[in-house]
Amino acid sequence: GKSRSCSVVNLTTIPDRGLNECNIAMLGCRGSGKSALTVKFLTKRFISEYDPNLEDTYTSEEIVDQQPVLLKVMDTADQDGPVNCERYLNWANAFIVVYSIDNRRSFEACRLYLDTVSIHTKGVQQEYPVILLGNKLDMERYRQVSKSDGLSLASKYGCLFYEVSACLDFDSVQRVFHEAAREARRE
Ligand code: GDP
Ligand code: MG
Repeated sequence: GKSRSCSVVNLTTIPDRGLNECNIAMLGCRGSGKSALTVKFLTKRFISEYDPNLEDTYTSEEIVDQQPVLLKVMDTADQDGPVNCERYLNWANAFIVVYSIDNRRSFEACRLYLDTVSIHTKGVQQEYPVILLGNKLDMERYRQVSKSDGLSLASKYGCLFYEVSACLDFDSVQRVFHEAAREARRE
């Protein structure tokens, strides 16, 4: 994918700006809500129709724990499970693996992404924070994946776990991205 993050150059060339950087890759099957979550985080708005083929990287200057962080988010758009993963594996230092709580299949697809990331991190002998994220919490009535299923998959892979909705409150969505940045700094 192309990058629209033209502001990066300006920010990083300003000396002593003291900006940490964190590259977050959004992974997960089509329709799980990666773009809706990314847009919500960046604009506080819920966009219900987003081009499913559009893959892009966005930049936002955030304050996490009173410290500025240049957060870059790659909103991936795999057609069919993990393919050409190098583009995000070699770039990201944090991963958010998304499924939809009302779609069992999207949850099962997370295993592929979690395996892909864990094989990569073993290979490069580095730890990267991974967050398993159940989206569409507003669809509770149609839930197909219990919270305990989410928690147990997360603990199996040693990741953090949250459930949110891209169309409900902004703070919960922001918290997930900030947690990824916080953990990435710690590694
Ligand atoms: P992506 O393929 O993972 O990027 O998924 P999108 O962000 O394009 O979302 C797929 C569909 O799910 C769209 O119709 C969105 O409007 C819808 N969607 C995304 N997030 C939510 C959510 O939190 N709740 C509900 N009800 N729908 C959502
Ligand atoms: Mg998308």
